[in-house]
Amino acid sequence: MGAHLRKDIGDEIPLFLGVLNGCFRFASDLISNFEGPCDVSFVKVASYEGTNSTGMVKRLIGVDETVAGRTVVVLEDIVDTGETIEQIIFDLESRNAKRIIVATLLFKPDAYEKDYTIDHVALEVPNEFLVGYGLDYDGLGRNLNDIYTLDLELEKRMKNIILFGPPGAGKGTQSEHLINSFGLVHLSTGDIFRKNIKGETELGTLAKSYMDKGELVPDDVTIRMLESEVERHPEAKGFIFDGFPRTEAQADALDAFLERKNTTIFKMVSLEVKEDELVFRLLERGKDSGRADDANEEVIRNRIAVYERETSIVADHYRRQGKFVSVDGVGSVEAISERLAEALA
Ligand code: AMP
Repeated sequence: MGAHLRKDIGDEIPLFLGVLNGCFRFASDLISNFEGPCDVSFVKVASYEGTNSTGMVKRLIGVDETVAGRTVVVLEDIVDTGETIEQIIFDLESRNAKRIIVATLLFKPDAYEKDYTIDHVALEVPNEFLVGYGLDYDGLGRNLNDIYTLDLELEKRMKNIILFGPPGAGKGTQSEHLINSFGLVHLSTGDIFRKNIKGETELGTLAKSYMDKGELVPDDVTIRMLESEVERHPEAKGFIFDGFPRTEAQADALDAFLERKNTTIFKMVSLEVKEDELVFRLLERGKDSGRADDANEEVIRNRIAVYERETSIVADHYRRQGKFVSVDGVGSVEAISERLAEALA
């Protein structure tokens, strides 16, 4: 584009006028590929309510007086509806620029609503949200070296987190903090089973026979129960899955279920705690939790063994998907929730 502009401009010394903030990388690369002398300046477009027919007036900040009588090359990162570029041209005309040339890195023909011809376009792009190479989304992404399409649908989707770790790692405690920070629905399969045991339901009776021994409740029962719990919260912004999935089959079922709901797991965060500390914590908890499976050291050790044998491999499932994060689960509740918040940022 530098060479095209050189040809277009002829012998004039142009004033390159970059439109901030998005243009900074494009402007820098373009100008360094432009042969011959030139002036460089930058403007910002401010908008405020006005009284003209559109109700909106845009104003340029940072144009100096040297515009009069000059060939001005406006450098834009992207021309979308054309609203901004129209205002810039209007402003430069009123400052008596001799000639106005518009050069843009990206142009969205499907979104453009104006008559003014854009003189130089590096790339025509579809009407999607783009980020990178100077372009931002909510202030982020300008430093990316390439340009990406932003999946806004994905942004709007639920944030589903798996809180992972052996029994006694602190998943329940940390869930409370996560609920407060992210406004998610907490689903603990252990809690749901215990509620069923208390309510003396059929599911409760079945689950109890496994839980009392520290064994896992069969996958088909657990998966069905989990799915119906998710369905009970159609308005949820996302879920914290606590104690689920505990087997490869549950992980596969969860992935497929979420995919059917047009969402996915955001991250699996695993709280890492050594076995002796787990046993100590669970026995302490057993003193007042009223949980039969916390009161007996043999059952506790079996739960940890079941975790090692059947559950720990679920971490690999999400590691392969690039969603696994490990967090040190030893320390104060506050320190651990800070680590979790960092891991989920
Ligand atoms: P928790 O409260 O997560 O420690 O779970 C207590 C017990 O409930 C476990 O030892 C299992 O017997 C049963 N349980 C909880 N979640 C699951 C699951 N996802 N799959 C199979 N059994 C589970």
